[in-house]
Amino acid sequence: MIQETFPMIVGEEEVLNERELLGKVENGPMMNGADSVRFIVIHCSATHADCDYTVEQMLRDHKTRGFRTIGYHFYIRRNGIVTRHRGLLEVGAHARGYNRCSIGICYEGGLNADGKTADTRTQEQKTALLELLWKLHKLFPQAIITGHCELPGTTKTCPGFYPSHEYVF
Ligand SMILES: [Zn+2]
Repeated sequence: MIQETFPMIVGEEEVLNERELLGKVENGPMMNGADSVRFIVIHCSATHADCDYTVEQMLRDHKTRGFRTIGYHFYIRRNGIVTRHRGLLEVGAHARGYNRCSIGICYEGGLNADGKTADTRTQEQKTALLELLWKLHKLFPQAIITGHCELPGTTKTCPGFYPSHEYVF
């Protein structure tokens, strides 16, 4: 059963209350408030489906790109383990033009054997993603669940499927 009340587990952490969940992880800029979250944007890491791409690798790569820390709020490994990298209302770095009004979730994978964008989610990732989205939907009922590729004005192909078709709560 999916837990809907606090304390809830979000990203392998027990969140004691809403204030803690909405607060900062690091000293980055914050959105104006919960109403600012208009989109929940799903991404893939654009790595091969049979390759590990660890949190440490992602952190290194994002720092190389000049980010303070991992640009996504959440990362879902192939085994379904979810980690959180930003406070929910911290401005992320994952979707140009939308970072001040969205929460970013990335799943590990997204490239098939030919190196093309594809839906490579494991069953564990699908389960973890559904649970996470359900919790976020409870916190931000106004937010539209969408894929990076579905955002107006983007040329991205990630995450390899259409979340707005799949996650209609
Ligand atoms: Zn993306």
